[in-house]
Amino acid sequence: MKALVTAGPTYEPIDPVRFIGNRSSGKQGYAIAEALRDAGFDVTLISGPTIMSDPKGVRTIRVETANEMLEACTNALPANIAVCAAAVSDWSVSQAHEQKLKKREGEDTLTLTLSQTPDILHTLSNHAERPALVVGFAAETEKLESHAKAKLEKKSCDWILANLVAQKDKKIFGEDENQVYLITSSNTEAWPNMSKSDVGERLAQEIKAYFKI
Ligand code: C5P
Repeated sequence: MKALVTAGPTYEPIDPVRFIGNRSSGKQGYAIAEALRDAGFDVTLISGPTIMSDPKGVRTIRVETANEMLEACTNALPANIAVCAAAVSDWSVSQAHEQKLKKREGEDTLTLTLSQTPDILHTLSNHAERPALVVGFAAETEKLESHAKAKLEKKSCDWILANLVAQKDKKIFGEDENQVYLITSSNTEAWPNMSKSDVGERLAQEIKAYFKI
């Protein structure tokens, strides 16, 4: 059984030395890739820039931008399962500058025009070689269940692992623990607060149960 996992942020270039990125550490996606490997899957991990080392026994492909991540994902098809844990930048600079942008005398502001990046989860869910099970993530700040259910439909995926971010005194990005809900079209299951590797293992168990393996 082949599994495809995306992880980490993407970096969208502004010029050769600057980029638009985000605070994703990649920890949750890497933990899922490792758990699926331990569960016997042949895993391809497509990772944005992170400080994590390539997990042993996992085919790890490093990319920078959302476009590169999409291309690596579609090249990795067919797969039985896709888990999209990457925090893909929603925007890229429409025309990245070829040379380093310089400050200019008398110009206090800089305007960048951004374009939407491709939605990898949506693309995989609607692909001719769609994996039998497609799992996405949703980080929400409110109305977790209704927002996640809407995302499930909009992205045509099968399951969403949803978590509340920006809760008072709690940060998720870069942390080792995560409290998630597994949301399907018919069910919402709250998982207890657990380590990101336990989230990976529990997801791998749910996936094995789904495929009856
Ligand atoms: O739309 P939103 O970013 O909230 O959706 C989150 C889910 O969609 C995650 O599973 C993320 O990996 C995926 N996603 C994607 N490509 C994008 C944006 C989000 O695969 N361009």
